[in-house]
Amino acid sequence: MPHFPVRSGAFKECQLCGQRSLEISAKIGVCKTCILTNFEKANAIISRVRIKERQKYSLPPTIPKTTKGVVCGDCVNACKIAEGEFGYCKLVTNVAGQLVRLAGDENRGLFSFYYDPLPTNCVAEPFCAGCTSNDFPTFSYSRGPEIGWNNLAVFYQACTYDCLFCQNYQYREGVTAATSFPPKVLVNALKTNTSCICFFGGDPAAQIRHSIAVANLAREKAQKQKRILRICWETNGSARPALMRECAQIALHSGGVIKIDIKAFSDKLNIALCGSSNRFSLYNLKVIGKQVQKRPDLPLLVVSTLLIPGYIDVEEVRKLAQFIVGIDPTIPFSLLAFYPTFIMNDLPTTSKKLAFDCLAAAKEEGLSNVHIGNIHLLH
Ligand SMILES: [Zn+2]
Repeated sequence: MPHFPVRSGAFKECQLCGQRSLEISAKIGVCKTCILTNFEKANAIISRVRIKERQKYSLPPTIPKTTKGVVCGDCVNACKIAEGEFGYCKLVTNVAGQLVRLAGDENRGLFSFYYDPLPTNCVAEPFCAGCTSNDFPTFSYSRGPEIGWNNLAVFYQACTYDCLFCQNYQYREGVTAATSFPPKVLVNALKTNTSCICFFGGDPAAQIRHSIAVANLAREKAQKQKRILRICWETNGSARPALMRECAQIALHSGGVIKIDIKAFSDKLNIALCGSSNRFSLYNLKVIGKQVQKRPDLPLLVVSTLLIPGYIDVEEVRKLAQFIVGIDPTIPFSLLAFYPTFIMNDLPTTSKKLAFDCLAAAKEEGLSNVHIGNIHLLH
């Protein structure tokens, strides 16, 4: 059943410390401080909510960790799957002791797609070749925004994370490998005026092998036609680093962007709010971030973070900014306004104050390229 935002003007109470605030989600039951300082108890409360929700959508309730189960290893979850069980993303299973990918590999993917006219509302829009064209004619068809061109937007319908504030939660209704398709479906969908592909979702991390296969075939086609085709990923960054590196190479040489959305800098917050560790996300950010000087005029990497009132605040943004500065202070960082939806729909939208305080903090830490996205959502 869809969740509709509820009135967010009421004070809610943390079940552990009793603190009352507009910026506590009663739906998850605990405040940020308790997640950080009383993690085991806080996470247990949140996990009950998550498990119940995942069961509604027939998704595996927790990350499988069966001793002697087969290991997937394509993302940070490192599922160990018993015979007949599924990985956390539900796209991988164990058949007679063998790991079987039902979708998301080189052969079949679970996705939908549409065409987005450029310039789009993409998180990399202020920095990208298609929307600002600071890299004409190498990676862009025009000196200004590519009017008349479109982006092939590929929505991968599964996820490695389980964010309780998911902004695209509807994907959960369709995680069934029965409707998967080979990479060539997307390559055939490229129009003569398609100048970029963006893989998002859900999250492409759960089907990273499929996205790489699509990207390689699409690049081959574009190279034969001697034309520009930028390839971008918008991801939580949780895919296995070796696979993420392949994506980064493709993006680098095609004029595309890797957009990593860091949900939280604190791993406790990431685990509590998203069900998984941010370990791979931060590592991938670092590895790809170190390559931005290979293409300094057109950023290879854009980092974004959703400013969730009460949970992802100035302190979190400041720590993430320090981490990015340590890699390369020119890496673009986009702060996104939160819209109350899915489970955490009892929080207010991001305030102007929070957004501008976070912007100031990120700049203070030394980042030179910080931006507030979807500014119209601020109140
Ligand atoms: Zn509390």
